Amino acid sequence: MCAQRKVEVSTPSVPKAAQVRQRPRLRAVDAVSLSADGILGLNSDRRIQVFNPALEQLTGFKRKDVVGKECRNVLRVIDSHGDLLCGNECPLDHTESSRVKMEGELIGAHGKGVPVELHYAVKCTPTGELLGAVVNVREVTGVQQDSSVRSTLLALVSHELQTPISIIKAYASTLARADASWSEAIVREKLNAIEEESDRLSRLVSRLLYTSRLEANSITLNLMLLDLPLETQRVARRLAETDKDHEILVSFPADFPPVTGDPEKIDEVLTNLIENALKFSPEGGSVTIEGTFIDSEVHITVGDQGIGIPEGEEERIFERFYRVTNSGGTTPGTGLGLHICRLLINAHGGRVWVESHPSTGSRFTFTLPVASEA
Ligand code: ADP
Repeated sequence: MCAQRKVEVSTPSVPKAAQVRQRPRLRAVDAVSLSADGILGLNSDRRIQVFNPALEQLTGFKRKDVVGKECRNVLRVIDSHGDLLCGNECPLDHTESSRVKMEGELIGAHGKGVPVELHYAVKCTPTGELLGAVVNVREVTGVQQDSSVRSTLLALVSHELQTPISIIKAYASTLARADASWSEAIVREKLNAIEEESDRLSRLVSRLLYTSRLEANSITLNLMLLDLPLETQRVARRLAETDKDHEILVSFPADFPPVTGDPEKIDEVLTNLIENALKFSPEGGSVTIEGTFIDSEVHITVGDQGIGIPEGEEERIFERFYRVTNSGGTTPGTGLGLHICRLLINAHGGRVWVESHPSTGSRFTFTLPVASEA
């Protein structure tokens, strides 16, 4: 018979009520202060009540200077068209549901833009009147921006690369069919198409590699004194030979000064701008290239009478892979040309921009420094 063992049951000691109360706890106000996201609290008049340190850092405004102010005067966020998110209507008015997410560029106290994601959480009365709101403001990090570049690259790869690959594959497997015999003319036609598509692929891949080398500053400029009017005439004549639908006019003043530049790269910039002017002027018309100079800078403007750039997209078209939707669907291209132009002109110490009216066409201008010997 087993001896009965005495089992001791230990009951956990219950903490004294006083001890529980003393244990430090994170208060809501500390949580708001510690948050890595910017947090903005608004009252029913849309005036600022809470403005945490992360938001101070993001905006450059101090809490003490903004509490009590109207939100729209402090949280200035612009959308991709350059319009203020609260320009016409407050985002809080769009909150049929209690949470809304928006994206834009936050313009801080120093006028600098930071890409952000905003989450609005709104509290209303049962009759729909605003009681207050909390806005979380999170900086969109480089990783997220990279991921948007990656998805554009993916779209480009899947369309621009996939199309020639599919054509090459289809023609090659047709020719390789054991059960068919093709006339010499057909064989030649298919081989020519394969060659053309391979060239297209190869051009695209080289362009991608060239862009990444330019971005990494690993291209050396072969700088020399340039006669820009002469260079421009040369490029214009070459392009006019293959385009009979447009008139290309070049005009430079007689005393136009020499500039320092890499002739091959400036030729590339001019070619791209003029080719775009021709490509996006489907109705024909004239393309003008004008040179002017102001103090130590020359300005070269390529103007067209084409489809123009929609308002708000003037800067975006210089981004890598960016194409305006209405033109991208029908006109071939990769969205790399203007990005390359900007990288090349910046490397020369110049600037490039566009002025455009959708009804009257576009004017692309780049600057270069006048050669110091001049
Ligand atoms: P791609 O021409 O290969 O698309 P670019 O970088 O040269 O790439 O141009 C980017 C986009 O800018 C074009 O897709 C087009 O939407 C717009 N664009 C460029 N030049 C013009 C122009 N002269 N007129 C109208 N739109 C233009």
